[in-house]
Amino acid sequence: MPKPTALPADLFAREMRGPRYTSYPTALSFTDAFGVPDYVGAVRELACGTSPLSLYVHVPFCASNCFYCGCHRIVTRSRDRIDRYFDALLAELRLQSALIGRGPEIVQIHFGGGTPNSFNVGQFARLLATVQRRFRVAEAGRLELSMEVDPRICEPSDLFGWRALGFNRLSFGIQDTNEDVQRAINRVQNGDHIAMLTATARRAGFASLNYDLVYGLPLQTPARLAGTLDFVLDQKPERVAAYHYAHLPHRFPAQGAISEADLPDAEQRQVLRQMIHGRLTLAGYQAIGLDHYALPTDPLAEAHRDGTMRRNFQGYSTMQGCDLIGIGASSISQVNGCFSQNLVNVESYLEAIEQGRLACARGYRQTADDRLRADIIESIMCRGEVDFERLGRQHGEALADRLAPELIKLKALDAAGQWLESGRWGLKVKESGRSLLRVVAMVFDRHLAAGGDAPRYSRLS
Ligand code: SF4
Repeated sequence: MPKPTALPADLFAREMRGPRYTSYPTALSFTDAFGVPDYVGAVRELACGTSPLSLYVHVPFCASNCFYCGCHRIVTRSRDRIDRYFDALLAELRLQSALIGRGPEIVQIHFGGGTPNSFNVGQFARLLATVQRRFRVAEAGRLELSMEVDPRICEPSDLFGWRALGFNRLSFGIQDTNEDVQRAINRVQNGDHIAMLTATARRAGFASLNYDLVYGLPLQTPARLAGTLDFVLDQKPERVAAYHYAHLPHRFPAQGAISEADLPDAEQRQVLRQMIHGRLTLAGYQAIGLDHYALPTDPLAEAHRDGTMRRNFQGYSTMQGCDLIGIGASSISQVNGCFSQNLVNVESYLEAIEQGRLACARGYRQTADDRLRADIIESIMCRGEVDFERLGRQHGEALADRLAPELIKLKALDAAGQWLESGRWGLKVKESGRSLLRVVAMVFDRHLAAGGDAPRYSRLS
């Protein structure tokens, strides 16, 4: 393997173990002290407000078990099971709409999983019709309607069906195109099929496609990854997300099927990451925040350039100032400074919804300190910099004194200022430190410092 440009190995290892900060605090700080009455109170205020809404729908079913996966999912092909869950989603939409009404406008709907395309086109049509009937939804040109797609169970007719329903963004789970790696992760999928789907999606009118890749997988080497990157650059999706694989078999039992001897070590992972970064940026992709890339004409790249890009549970987003309503088992809502997570266990979720109850199981209400730190961490994750003066004006206090302990920790991370500059004015992560964004963000994470959060990983696929 080529020698990586060295970032301190201990910091890179810390980065790999860090939270992805799709929220602050992370979901590990949620407690059952926050329940349905708290959520209802937060949502009632939302109904009177004017901020736009993003709707997330979680579909937890998958046709087979990818060994690397860290998502909330159930492996089944039972149509009865999928259909029962589908009916529960419709019921939950009715429950939520009774609280929210047609006040705030939904500007984004995203289906994640699991495998959202476990539902057929007719089910998506019914679900979207329910959303249109029950909520105020932005008109077609302003609505972002997107889905994560497992290419293995996707047919060309699905793409035309989704497009006819108004879907305008798709994200294909690619991970790695090498057959040895695919067999080691139990996710064998044919590159020709993915290329055909990509071409068909473009013919159907999808202007924005994303490919998800994963690095650090078993048997992945630079030579094998080169083949995957050749494939990606041939297809030229508008966006590429390259997630790091975290091997945590004690938390995700399916990962136990992966032989640890087959995993690249920390230095090799750094090489793989640098290779992805180098090939994609050389091909014209703009690097965005943490492990994301977009063609310069893509709205996400534009939002990144003009400093308006945001980060939420769905990752990086062009949507500003949105509250988020999560529907389905394990989904998280973010409303008026409150986080609320639905029951993770699908049977428990179904039971609550079928009895006419909201499925909120736990959550968290942000304090003023959390809100400040959330803004700092989001700024690090999106822009790699924080302007203390500007942020201090927003929060009504001088930050340099208040954050003096954090400034000392920042200096300790990089005393020579090789990849990180910091001072009473704020901080800036240099290009050479881009792969250490989480390490910098963790400095401001009080929950982590207090032991409230263990290192964790969110979505890997
Ligand atoms: S990686 Fe995606 S398709 Fe595979 S088990 Fe996980 S959620 Fe399902």
